[in-house]
Amino acid sequence: MSAAPTFLPYGRQSIDETDIEAVAQALRQDYLTTGPAVGAFEAAFAQAVGAKFAVASNSGTAALHLACMALDLGPGDTVVVPAITFLATANAARFCGAEVIFADVDPESGRLTAETFQAAIDRHPNASIRAVLPVHLNGHCADMVAIRALAERRRIAVVEDACHALGGRHGAGNGTSSDVGACTLSDMACFSLHPVKMMTTGEGGVTTTNDEALYHRMLLLRSHGMVRNPAAFEMREQAFAADRSPNPWYYEMADLGYNYRITDFACALGQSQLRRLRHFVERRRRLAARYDAGLQSLAPRIRPVKGQAADAPALHLYAVLIDFKALGTERAKVMAGLKSQGIGTMVHYLPVNRQPYYIRRGGSVSLPGADSYYERVLSVPLYPDMCDDDVDRVIDALRGLLS
Ligand SMILES: *Cc1c(COP(=O)(O)O)cnc(C)c1O
Repeated sequence: MSAAPTFLPYGRQSIDETDIEAVAQALRQDYLTTGPAVGAFEAAFAQAVGAKFAVASNSGTAALHLACMALDLGPGDTVVVPAITFLATANAARFCGAEVIFADVDPESGRLTAETFQAAIDRHPNASIRAVLPVHLNGHCADMVAIRALAERRRIAVVEDACHALGGRHGAGNGTSSDVGACTLSDMACFSLHPVKMMTTGEGGVTTTNDEALYHRMLLLRSHGMVRNPAAFEMREQAFAADRSPNPWYYEMADLGYNYRITDFACALGQSQLRRLRHFVERRRRLAARYDAGLQSLAPRIRPVKGQAADAPALHLYAVLIDFKALGTERAKVMAGLKSQGIGTMVHYLPVNRQPYYIRRGGSVSLPGADSYYERVLSVPLYPDMCDDDVDRVIDALRGLLS
């Protein structure tokens, strides 16, 4: 009797003994929260993606919120967010009091394009649009060259939601390319280090930038808006003793900040995982290539979501488009069928503009590209510890359910 096949989730972390040892080592030190591992991880991360600065925080959501706060977004401001993304992309702007305009996406890729960005701007001629948050959905990058060009003409800041795309490269124009997170065509890029993402710190996030002012602002806002540098104190009289030395207990709150700090042992895990990032990216690419080849026989009923030719993506998800209606079935049935064979799948994502909170704020908007993508999309298992046979098993199961 053969054992039941192991369950394949749509994504999961890869933890090895060096990761465990790195965390154990950190736990034996003096610092559990902000200690030397945080700065070391930030420096290694910035170097890995080719940015000047990296700010680590305790979630991808915090990373996005810090970016929006660093831009001083507030009531009266508006940001453009593609409809197909995780809730947090839009919520980060709302935390600041800014309004969200949902842009449509390309129905075949699910991504924001310069055209759908322009259409969103045209729908709201009187809005004060301060920022756009392109999402590198599944790991395939948005067209940064075209989006940056349009944003620049309109003096709109660009914050990449790169939570799916750590370790990838995107076209940067004139035959060049750029690491995701290097911010060559954006002001900031935000990453999530949740276990299903490219690498993990448990919960965690990072924002990268090349702008020193944005960097210092994010450091301030990550920890209560507290200033400890005497040179920056505003209230001289309460800050300093009679002999002009700073009072030893004193700190100042310069702005309303949060506690978005990440722990030292999480950063120790992050640094250990970062050493394996190239391996993770490569392994995901190979698995995706195997899916691409194996799914060809099921085209056009099942089509993988594709990236742009100039990119070398790091794939967080392997997403396929299936015309469930034309096949006379329903997505929920297919998901249940796959689950009964030990295969986990997920839908990324329900258009955020269709969430009750956003309908109540902005009314319903018709975004046919987002609806069409959402109707057909399904994420199948993809993670570094999967083996080639697992990919074949998923393809066979899809063939069985959809022929
Ligand atoms: C995961 C994710 C986030 C949020 O990250 P957390 O670490 O879970 O807070 C934001 N945007 C996208 C596109 C994501 O996939």
